[in-house]
Amino acid sequence: MKRRILISNDDGIYSPGILALAKVASRLGEVRIVAPDVEQSSMSHAITSSRPLRYKRIRLGDFEAYRVNGTPADCVALGAHRWGHVDLVLSGINLGLNLGNSCWHSGTLAAAKQAALLGLRGIAISAPVTDSREPNFIFWFTITPLEGAEEGTDRWAIEHNWVSITPLRLDLTDEKDLSRALSLAQTPPVSAAKKG
Ligand code: MN
Repeated sequence: MKRRILISNDDGIYSPGILALAKVASRLGEVRIVAPDVEQSSMSHAITSSRPLRYKRIRLGDFEAYRVNGTPADCVALGAHRWGHVDLVLSGINLGLNLGNSCWHSGTLAAAKQAALLGLRGIAISAPVTDSREPNFIFWFTITPLEGAEEGTDRWAIEHNWVSITPLRLDLTDEKDLSRALSLAQTPPVSAAKKG
């Protein structure tokens, strides 16, 4: 059976990045695109629980695609559920680098994290874009470049013209502090416990 590759993003299903990713992924297996109907950048790992989700089947290039009225994490959960068996989830290609602190609010990364939560493999992919900030009289969160990336970090790699590949894990437990808390406990711990 051909490898099944589910593709999503947070820029919306009509972003050029997702079609570029689908084209490359189609060399590796059967591709299905399930992505938000509108841009959901910076939605992090939000899921939709207060209203029903709907999808609409569309044609995107040569690919079977579904536009969903939800977040990136919704799309991966719904896509994996409806397809039945998925070997790999790819998210992106995001228009703008997901490096450093942006990992906390990136919807692109959240799609890959949702895959991991479902026991699937997930990879989030992003690429730089030219400055697209618009001059206007509204307020808009934007990116202020930081100086001096620490050697060995993702930002440092990109600044030195490398590709950055960062393995992540879902467990946010601070093992060092947990060990310290346990060592301070006089009696067998009842409140300090690893999440999970
Ligand atoms: Mn985005």
